[in-house]
Amino acid sequence: MDYSKLPVFAEAEVVVCGGGTAGSFAAKAAADLGRDVLIVEQFGSLGGTATNGLVLPIMHTHIPSNPQCSYISNIVRDRLLELGSGSENGANFDPLVLKVVLEEICVEAGVKLLYHTFIAETIVEDGKVTALVVANKNGLGLVKGKIFIDATADGDVCVRSGAEYSKGNPETGKNQPISLRYIVSNVDFEAFGAFINQTLNETKKYNGATYTEDGKIYVACCNGDQWTFADIFNAAIAAGDLEPDDKAYWQGFTITGRPSCLAFNNPEFFDETDGTDPEHLTKTQVGGKRRILRQLQFYKKYLKGFENAYISDVAAMVGIRESRNIITEYVLSAEDLLCRKKFDDMFCQSNYPVDIHGKQLNFSNDGIKPIDDGKIWYEIPYRSLVVKGFDNLYITGRCLGAEFLAQSSLRVQHSVRASGEAAGIGAALALERGITPKEVDGAEVRAIMVKNGAEFA
Ligand SMILES: Cc1cc2nc3c(=O)[nH]c(=O)nc-3n(C[C@H](O)[C@H](O)[C@H](O)COP(=O)(O)OP(=O)(O)OC[C@H]3O[C@@H](n4cnc5c(N)ncnc54)[C@H](O)[C@@H]3O)c2cc1C
Repeated sequence: MDYSKLPVFAEAEVVVCGGGTAGSFAAKAAADLGRDVLIVEQFGSLGGTATNGLVLPIMHTHIPSNPQCSYISNIVRDRLLELGSGSENGANFDPLVLKVVLEEICVEAGVKLLYHTFIAETIVEDGKVTALVVANKNGLGLVKGKIFIDATADGDVCVRSGAEYSKGNPETGKNQPISLRYIVSNVDFEAFGAFINQTLNETKKYNGATYTEDGKIYVACCNGDQWTFADIFNAAIAAGDLEPDDKAYWQGFTITGRPSCLAFNNPEFFDETDGTDPEHLTKTQVGGKRRILRQLQFYKKYLKGFENAYISDVAAMVGIRESRNIITEYVLSAEDLLCRKKFDDMFCQSNYPVDIHGKQLNFSNDGIKPIDDGKIWYEIPYRSLVVKGFDNLYITGRCLGAEFLAQSSLRVQHSVRASGEAAGIGAALALERGITPKEVDGAEVRAIMVKNGAEFA
């Protein structure tokens, strides 16, 4: 089909495809360097999985100094704190307020937004993407640009343009489980906290439940009987009030700025796991809501403090941990991650562990031993953002160039933020010099991140 005659809906020097975490950071970083930037986003807000997917908090890097590898992270943290919806370490946030903060920092930097617009196809000429084919209320149209940053998290733009990619666990072909997250409000924390302490005392199972003096709650239960609440879950399953999968992965915690609310990182789906299959997405959306209501009834019947609690939010986006990963100039391997490889062109450091969800964790490191250089982190190179075979295309976010095992660690928001920032700066440098993303020096990208306040270990 010849799309070239479609009307042009919008145009910019840097077109950021998808306005999630990586997309917002990419757009602001490129705009901060004076470029004309547009975000094309299917929903009506920024933040993607972190906001519309209700995914919080930001995981710790597991490096003692916890370097955020992003100057924009500092700006976001400070804005959230000003609004009473963040934490000093930048990890916790209210997802609704984060939507506002991301919009503000992008718009103030001059980023243009095109919401409610889905990217369906691309036009590619001589190794360059020249336009996105988008669909919105005005029908089909084009969005033209000089450099495209694919931040769709599934690599939609890259795949529609013909880029190579990998997908899923190399042994099974299956993606990691999908989750539909939700928030329960009006929980009586004192009553639930007392119940947690009572259960800890009775069971002597100190695994997966804490109520701290400052009133914070963390609860978790998974397969196995070692968890504080395992017996309670088992009783509910035996009585038919829960299904076994409700216990396979269950985790809840406090949200900064929202007293009496708990965010839940479940239910988790182990069969429908393909985030690029609309049927799987639909089934998890529909089945997830039913499970969420079932879980609320379980809290009311079996726990304490939930008598007047209600579901105040169900994620608009199902949570996709992993789908496609795009083949880039350098693909971060499992061995790179496990050996803690360092790169001259690195833009991110992390020691967040391999984190593969599933009923049976099937991970062995085949005897690979980390290099003992006293630097307990791996690094992600700039080249893993540069899509192989293209002269104006970046991939950023959780689907950057990485093998399955490596992706299981770097999908967390700290690395995703850094990847967006690095891609945005790379795009600005490429435009300024009239060179391709591949020709940009990753060390220079990092130097700009540092100049603006990014911290590295
Ligand atoms: C259930 C779950 C729990 C997690 N827990 C944590 C945690 O506790 N801590 C942590 O740090 N990380 C966690 N993660 C990982 C982390 O949250 C995500 O990997 C990260 O937020 C992904 O960011 P992203 O920018 O790559 O993608 P997204 O935030 O998903 O952004 C993609 C954006 O692109 C848009 N888009 C997609 N396709 C199109 C299209 N074709 N056209 C137009 N727009 C499009 C989407 O609407 C979205 O806004 C979790 C992930 C999941 C799923």
